Amino acid sequence: MPEETRVSPLLAGLIGRGIALSRTPAMHAEEARHQGFGGAYRILDMDEPPRSGTRLADMLRAAELAGFDGLNITYPFKIEVIEHLDALSDNARAVGAVNTVVFRDGRRIGHNTDLWGFAESFRRGLAGAATGHALLIGAGGAGVAVAHALADCGIARLSILDRDADRAAALADQVRRNRSGTRVGAAADAGALTGPDRPDGVVNATPMGMAKLPGTAIDPALLRADQWVADIVYFPLETALLAAARARGCRVLPGSGMAVFQAVRAFELFTGRPACPDRMKATFDAFDT
Ligand code: NAD
Repeated sequence: MPEETRVSPLLAGLIGRGIALSRTPAMHAEEARHQGFGGAYRILDMDEPPRSGTRLADMLRAAELAGFDGLNITYPFKIEVIEHLDALSDNARAVGAVNTVVFRDGRRIGHNTDLWGFAESFRRGLAGAATGHALLIGAGGAGVAVAHALADCGIARLSILDRDADRAAALADQVRRNRSGTRVGAAADAGALTGPDRPDGVVNATPMGMAKLPGTAIDPALLRADQWVADIVYFPLETALLAAARARGCRVLPGSGMAVFQAVRAFELFTGRPACPDRMKATFDAFDT
C-alpha cells in the first residue's frame, strides 16, 4: 500500500445496529492521535436517533458529502451495502460481504478486512501450527470470511460444520470456487473431530460462547492436546471452548486478534498509512481493565 504523508485528520465511522459497545472507534481514534493527525471516528448506530428510520443509502451519501475518509460496516448491513458501491476488492468479492468502505476520488470502494484480520491473527498467534486439516464450525457471515482466511493461511484441507447443513455445503462450494489450493468439504457432524481423519485444528465461528449464548458448539472432551483451537467470539475473551481447550493442553487463539487486525487494515485503507497493531491491541485490551 503506498504510504502518504497525511496531514488531514481522520474522519470515519461505524454503521450498524446495536453497536454502542464497539471497540473499533477507540482503536482508530487512538491510532490517529498517536500518528499525529488525530480526527474523529463516529458510531453511527442506525437504531439510535437521529438516524433511526434512515436508509443505508442516505447514510452513506451523508458521510461521503461530509468528507469522510470511509466507513466500517457491521451487522446487518455488510451485504446490503454492496449495491451502493462502485467497486469491490478481491477479498470482498470472494466473501460477498463488505466491512470497510473507502471514499476516494468520488468513488466508493468496498473491502473485507475481516478476512485479512482473521488470517493475520492466525499467522501471528498460531505460527507454526499444523495446517493439514482444519474444522470450521459456523458458516454464517463471519464464517465465510474465516473460511477464506484459513485457505489463505495455507490450510490444505478444510471441513465445514454448521447446524444448517445447506449453509455448510454452500460455503464449501464458495471456497472451492475462490481458493482452489484448499480441499474443502462439508462435515456431517462433530464426529469429524475424532478418528483417523481428525483435524489439526478447530475454529469456532458460531456465536456459541458469547456472554449471551453460553456453552460450546462442540464437546471440548473430544479435543486432544496436539490440536489448536481458535475462537472468533471475543465477548468474553476467554470463551468456554478456549478455557476447556487450554486446560487440555491445546494451543489457543482468542477472537480479539481478528477484531484488532480488521481495524489495523481498515485504518491503513482509510488513511494510506500503516497502523501499529500493538498499539491498537493495547487500546482494545484497555476496555477489559
Ligand atoms: P451468523 O448468525 O451469521 O452465523 C452463525 C452460524 O453458526 C449460523 O450459520 C448457524 O447456523 C451456526 N451455528 C450456530 N450454532 C451452532 C452450533 N451449535 N453448531 C453448528 N453451527 C452453529 O453469525 P456471524 O455474524 O457469523 O457471527 C458469529 C460470531 O462471530 C458472533 O459471536 C460474532 O460476535 C463473532 N464475530 C467476531 C468477529 C471478530 O472480529 N472476532 C467478527 C465477526 C463476528
